[in-house]
Amino acid sequence: MLKLIRKVLKTGKATVDYPFKPLDLHPHFRGKPQYNAQQCIACGACANACPSNALTMTTAEDGESIRWSLFLGRCIFCARCEEVCPTAAIKLSQEFELAVWRKEDLFETADFPVCHCRECGAPYAVQKEIDFALDLLQENAALSDAQINERRRQYETCPACKKGHSLSSSDRIAIGRHLTPEAHL
Ligand code: SF4
Ligand code: SF4
Repeated sequence: MLKLIRKVLKTGKATVDYPFKPLDLHPHFRGKPQYNAQQCIACGACANACPSNALTMTTAEDGESIRWSLFLGRCIFCARCEEVCPTAAIKLSQEFELAVWRKEDLFETADFPVCHCRECGAPYAVQKEIDFALDLLQENAALSDAQINERRRQYETCPACKKGHSLSSSDRIAIGRHLTPEAHL
């Protein structure tokens, strides 16, 4: 018995005082994803990368906005969302005390208005994402206002309308003229 007590005293304390004292976390500890809706452009990259489907992008009930949603109950704190986010809108924090009384409190959502196609009026993209792409162009490519307005017209036209305007039907393209006699051998 004395031998055991001596060993215990020599080993010292093997546990921590949490929750009576704050826990000393490793700087790389991965806790609750912290989301900043102001910074988010609703590109959906995080939802695509999330391996547990904790992050989703859906059409809101009114059909006029896209809903970004995080369900903490499914999060595995892998940080893939942080890695892929182009605007640093989501970062893992060191927060780990996540118990709640109601399941609804594990959800975080943000709605983003959609852009309606200038020609057919169909909703097809998040307006904030289009604005962000144009801002980037203006910043980095130094385009004139007229060029930016032209790009805005293109970006705010849905793919189906763009296709109808600018592409010929494929059977009107004479592909055969590019073939050399050798190609037929
Ligand atoms: S940390 Fe991983 S599981 Fe959690 S929301 Fe981000 S990508 Fe999804
Ligand atoms: S990747 Fe970033 S910007 Fe894109 S939807 Fe997720 S949080 Fe928003």
